[in-house]
Amino acid sequence: MEDKKPENDPFRELTWGDLTVWVGRDTVSPGQRLQRRGAVDELAKTPNGGLLAWVRAEERFAAYVVFEDGELLCRCACHGESACEHGIAVILEYIAHLKKNLTVPIAPSNDQRFYLV
Ligand SMILES: [Zn+2]
Repeated sequence: MEDKKPENDPFRELTWGDLTVWVGRDTVSPGQRLQRRGAVDELAKTPNGGLLAWVRAEERFAAYVVFEDGELLCRCACHGESACEHGIAVILEYIAHLKKNLTVPIAPSNDQRFYLV
């Protein structure tokens, strides 16, 4: 048994099915295309366990996703009605980082992206 448990990270547990239930296939698929073509830049974690990144789509959007009370929330500079493909791309990029054991830095509290979402 390991003494040190990995920090509780709900994004680590997310499955394709969870994402599809959350936003629907019509949003998951474009989000996956964005992530695959490397559209997610400067991925960072936030102190409350959320994820923040730039997503290069039609324009560059700041996107922020976080779990609040077990609910996945997406706030994005595209100001969509609900969760958008940019938020999905950020989550998929994070999962890709985990799989490759890449470190994800913590965003500073004055990160400009917080003001854009
Ligand atoms: Zn968006």
